[in-house]
Amino acid sequence: MKNKHLTLLAAVILLLAGCKNPGVTKFDYHLDWNNAGLDVRLTLAHPQTDTLTLYYCDEDFGGQTDIFTCVKNLKAEGCTILPDSAHYRIQLFDFRKNNILLTYRIEQSLPDDFVNCPMEVFRPNLTDKMLYALGNHLFFLPDEEDSVLLSAPMKVTWGSVPEFPVFCLYNPGKGTEAFEGQVADLLNTVVVGDPGLHIDTVMCAGVTNYVVTAPRKLEEYNNANLKHFLRFFYTSALQFWEETPEKPYSLIVYPFEKIPFEVTGLGLDGGFCARYSVDADTILTHGREQTFAHEIGHHWIGFGGDFQWFGEGFNDFQSIYLVTASGLHNTQNFIDFFNEYLEKLQHSEIRNLPNDEIFKNFWDLGDYSWIPYWRGSIYALRLMGMIEAQTGTDHAFKDLMMAVKPSMDKLTPELFLEIASQFIDKQTLQVDFERYIINAESMTLVGDPMPSGCEVRYRKDGTPYLVITDEAKFARHFVL
Ligand SMILES: [Zn+2]
Repeated sequence: MKNKHLTLLAAVILLLAGCKNPGVTKFDYHLDWNNAGLDVRLTLAHPQTDTLTLYYCDEDFGGQTDIFTCVKNLKAEGCTILPDSAHYRIQLFDFRKNNILLTYRIEQSLPDDFVNCPMEVFRPNLTDKMLYALGNHLFFLPDEEDSVLLSAPMKVTWGSVPEFPVFCLYNPGKGTEAFEGQVADLLNTVVVGDPGLHIDTVMCAGVTNYVVTAPRKLEEYNNANLKHFLRFFYTSALQFWEETPEKPYSLIVYPFEKIPFEVTGLGLDGGFCARYSVDADTILTHGREQTFAHEIGHHWIGFGGDFQWFGEGFNDFQSIYLVTASGLHNTQNFIDFFNEYLEKLQHSEIRNLPNDEIFKNFWDLGDYSWIPYWRGSIYALRLMGMIEAQTGTDHAFKDLMMAVKPSMDKLTPELFLEIASQFIDKQTLQVDFERYIINAESMTLVGDPMPSGCEVRYRKDGTPYLVITDEAKFARHFVL
């Protein structure tokens, strides 16, 4: 009985404290499409004693150092704000109300003169015929490391909407309907809209997934092939990673507005968004399949900052492996892929530039942005040969990835080497890693064991290339 009174008293105290200071942070976003821009209103409940820092993208994201200029008319009610455009953030303090209001407008269309690929992918583009905005280009969000604020409750509602259809990756298939979730749901997302937006569904493993396109040419330009690709590839990837999906996956394939760049894309939470040139006769050219596979592959193998030889290189290995294992492409295609990478790496003037130097210049593009893919996937191929030589397995990639999987979110080079040492002598691994990844020595493949059924040969200029010597043996490596 006594305890009951105490509990009641504690509840009353908590209730009174709650009136003065809610103690719970809650983000409530409201969007209005207005004159080819988005007016954004954030109603934010936040403990009155704390300051709060919110970010609008960052300088590393696509090399867009002036991205803060997309934010116009930034104002606050109920607190004081200090915008810090140099660091892509605002500080909110001196909270005078339980609910404060932050308003701003996102406005950006691409300039008429030449724009490059990151400019189209990593900037919002809002015109009277187009809406393209990544989550961190639309919403002010907490630091990516702040797990407490990222798990805070969040709501997104729309008032005025564009005349054309809109697809929000955070709420797939539901247009601009209200959405409730966690703040983290807005971080790696995208919103696309277009007068020609076409939204298809594909069932995989009992879950409805989405294929979103905005064809610029004839209707037969795309959709059936893309649906087939998603069904086939995504189902194979789920099988490889031994997973049953719980949420929809969305494949958004959206045309570039201005540039003829063949294809690129961004792996996001719950889907990916590819951007492509409309010059080809079909969206799904053979070469683009590899890019789409790569971006879907980021669902399992992430980016990991300067850990790009893994995030990009091993992911590239995964994508060519899975298109082969799923039967979409044949084993010769796998070999051709590596021969192209071996050739490119061999002839790159910066092939011996160490990993961290490459990372610093990644957004200078050209070879800087390709070397992590080339180097990482060739390094992965070497590891496959080494694992097979030491353990006798035909399934080296599957075995290694299954061992890495539980640690994927917290992977570091040290942890990776620790895990790989289940298969290969650790000393050998460390020396190898130091030589080929850290110090960027040329991978000549001389004396390296290769996956069985293929071998290395050399062109007159010393460039290594692979040939299949035993098709049946080689094909045995590709298991799901
Ligand atoms: Zn990638």
